[in-house]
Amino acid sequence: MPTKPRTAVFFHAHPDDEALLTAGTMAMLAAEGHRVVLVVATAGERGLAEMGPGDELGETRLKELYTSAALLGCARVECLGYGDSGLSPQGGIAEERPDNAFIDADTDGAAGQLAAILKEEEADLLAIYDPAGGYGHPDHVQVHRVGRRAAEMAGTEIVLEATVNRDPLLKALKFAGRVYKFPPEFDPRTFESAYTPGDQITHRVNVRKYTKQKRASMAAHVTQASGGESDRTLAVMLKIPGPLYRLVFGTEWFVRRDVPPGTRLTHPFEQA
Ligand SMILES: [Zn+2]
Repeated sequence: MPTKPRTAVFFHAHPDDEALLTAGTMAMLAAEGHRVVLVVATAGERGLAEMGPGDELGETRLKELYTSAALLGCARVECLGYGDSGLSPQGGIAEERPDNAFIDADTDGAAGQLAAILKEEEADLLAIYDPAGGYGHPDHVQVHRVGRRAAEMAGTEIVLEATVNRDPLLKALKFAGRVYKFPPEFDPRTFESAYTPGDQITHRVNVRKYTKQKRASMAAHVTQASGGESDRTLAVMLKIPGPLYRLVFGTEWFVRRDVPPGTRLTHPFEQA
C-alpha cells in the first residue's frame, strides 16, 4: 500500500454512524499513518436516547463523537452544525423538524461548507453514503447528495460510498433475532431493501485487526449503546458475540462509481 501519507475525510450524518459503517477503515488508515478527518452534518440531537431529544443530547453526543474519534486515531473532527432532521414514527421524513434541519439545507450551501474542509485538508478521498442512504434515514440520503457535490466542488479524486453488504447482514440479523428479542423500534425486515447487494460493491476492506477499536468506538456512544426500556440499534450490535462480531464487522464495504462494476479492491487508496 502507498507509503506517502494521504488524507481521507469521512462524512457522516450523526455521531455514531462512523462507528457502525467506517470505524475499522478509519482506524486502519490512521494506523498506516494517513490523516483521517471526521465530519458530521448534525449533532444527532433528535436521536433515540433516554434523556430525550434536545440541545443537551446534541452536546452529549458530540462528546461521545470526540471520544470515538480519538479511539480511531482521527486528526480532526468537525460538525457542520445542521439540525438533526429526525425520523417520523413510520421511518420517513419527520413533519416537525428544526428550522435548520439538514434535509432542508440548500445542497450547494452545505456542500460548500464541506468542500472548504476538503480543500483546506487537500483531501485525497471523501467517504459518503450510497444513494439510498443505507437504511434510508433522510439525513443519510442528504449526506450522499451533499457529499457528491462537495467532492465535485473541491475536485476530490476518490469518492467512496460507505455501505453494507446486505447478504451477510441479513444472515447475522436472523441469527441475532433467534437469540435476542429485538426492541419494538428495531425491525430487521427494514434491512431487506437497505444498503447494497454484494455484486455492486467495489471495495471489501478487511478490518479484523481493528474490530477492537471499532467495538470501542461503538461503545463510546453511550447514549446509543445503552438501553432504557428497550435497546438501541448499537446495543443490539454490541450483543453479537466476539467471533460473529469479527465476521460481521470484520469487513467494511464501499462502492466507487468511477471504477468498472465488478472491480474488487481491498484498500481505499488502491488503484483499479
Ligand atoms: Zn445516522
